Amino acid sequence: MMAHNAISAQQEAGISPDVLVVGGGPAGSTISTLLAERGYDVVLLEKSHHPRFHIGESLLPMNLPLFERLGLKEQVASIGMLKYGAEFVSPDHDETSLFEFGQALDKSFPYSYEVRRSELDEILFKNARAKGARAYEGCDVKRIEFPEGERPIVVSQSEDGQEREWRPRFLVDATGRETFLANQFGIKRRNRKHASASVYGHFAGAERRTGNQEGNITLFWFEHGWFWYIPLRDGSVSVGVVCWPYYMKSRKTDMERFFFDTIALCPPLAKRLQAAKLVAPVTATGNFSYSAERCSGNKHIMIGDAFAFIDPVFSSGVFLAMNSAFMGAEAVDACLKNPAGAARTLKEFDRDSRYGLKIFSWIIYRMTTPAMRNLFMKPSNKFRLQETLLSVLAGDLYRDTPIRMRLFIFKVVYYLLSIRMLGQSYAAWRRRKHSIRNVAFEATAP
Ligand SMILES: Cc1cc2nc3c(=O)[nH]c(=O)nc-3n(C[C@H](O)[C@H](O)[C@H](O)COP(=O)(O)OP(=O)(O)OC[C@H]3O[C@@H](n4cnc5c(N)ncnc54)[C@H](O)[C@@H]3O)c2cc1C
Repeated sequence: MMAHNAISAQQEAGISPDVLVVGGGPAGSTISTLLAERGYDVVLLEKSHHPRFHIGESLLPMNLPLFERLGLKEQVASIGMLKYGAEFVSPDHDETSLFEFGQALDKSFPYSYEVRRSELDEILFKNARAKGARAYEGCDVKRIEFPEGERPIVVSQSEDGQEREWRPRFLVDATGRETFLANQFGIKRRNRKHASASVYGHFAGAERRTGNQEGNITLFWFEHGWFWYIPLRDGSVSVGVVCWPYYMKSRKTDMERFFFDTIALCPPLAKRLQAAKLVAPVTATGNFSYSAERCSGNKHIMIGDAFAFIDPVFSSGVFLAMNSAFMGAEAVDACLKNPAGAARTLKEFDRDSRYGLKIFSWIIYRMTTPAMRNLFMKPSNKFRLQETLLSVLAGDLYRDTPIRMRLFIFKVVYYLLSIRMLGQSYAAWRRRKHSIRNVAFEATAP
């Protein structure tokens, strides 16, 4: 089989594909696979080489039908740690709270996986190639232009410095947090309702649950944010803290020391890590809550993190990225088949892309309120509230499950509970506002 790491002269003839996808993460590889399967000539350009590290290891049950549709059910199962649910631990509640996906409104997707993203992303990328996409690694896209009435112009550079100009009929930006087009158009906006930063590392020898609970993600709340604890198949665990940027700004030591000092502020987590050893360097990411003003335009769309990212608390990133690739494939197909209807198609794509983000955001923005905390820590299934929450946590937003009506009831209960806890709700609102104001200061600081 031909090596695909550089674009050979032979392949120059193919510089005008139907679709060019920039970025070979879950979003880019998925849309490339789907469009190649429909018979389009697809070029996929990834600047790094798989397998490469990426954070974001916990998946949702609704990822599984997407893997199955891509023909990857068994491959993903072979690298995944079974995850039947999520455990929540709060300093204000004596008991931990366990959410099991098998109790969602639709009970037919009782589990998902924890994965190493280096492995998952490689599987997805190779699949795109196997299904016919011309997938290149070590190919960094440097420039994209949209000349009026013509095909887009894309300039990529391979690692030997060689530049190549592509003229696709349609362009997909799947560059993740690099947000290539949103930056170029100046339409990337920091999320004014939310802000967080993260520090993470991987450990061996940590205390793990047993049986069906071994692969569950645990979320530990603490004073300055929350931690994730994700057990991986090889026995290691991924641990990360997501905190308000004001807390990150208080750092006076090196990142590793800061990470360990922060873990010490959360005794139940520190206990699980008592005998553990750090096996990978501690890494930090800055404020990561943003979205672009739009996710489509003249002969292009933006999918996955290239359009928006809110927060990792519900492990929704990979699911939303892959789901936007599925919706994007439909949209690109429709635009190429019927260019006259492209404006309408892209408008619908824009609306559908925002739908899932909106549902997750509504809960995420309220996560620190006492009412929401109670709904998580003392879950009740009155009015099927717990089933509803579980369906959201499972990512079951885009199927026939009657989620909209149920969510409406959930919101009503949340607001009534907030009114009942008015004093605490107001104090939490003020605290949150203060944390976000600090971020605005940080964003404008040199
Ligand atoms: C701290 C943190 C924790 C998270 N935890 C989770 C979690 O537990 N579960 C979950 O589902 N999600 C999680 N996420 C989110 C998740 O990682 C992302 O939502 C997901 O990776 C998005 O996929 P994507 O394909 O859009 O982007 P990416 O996976 O980032 O892929 C983009 C690809 O584009 C390539 N690229 C970029 N620019 C160029 C260019 N100019 N030319 C060529 N290639 C380029 C990059 O190299 C990369 O491979 C987390 C995120 C953060 C920040």
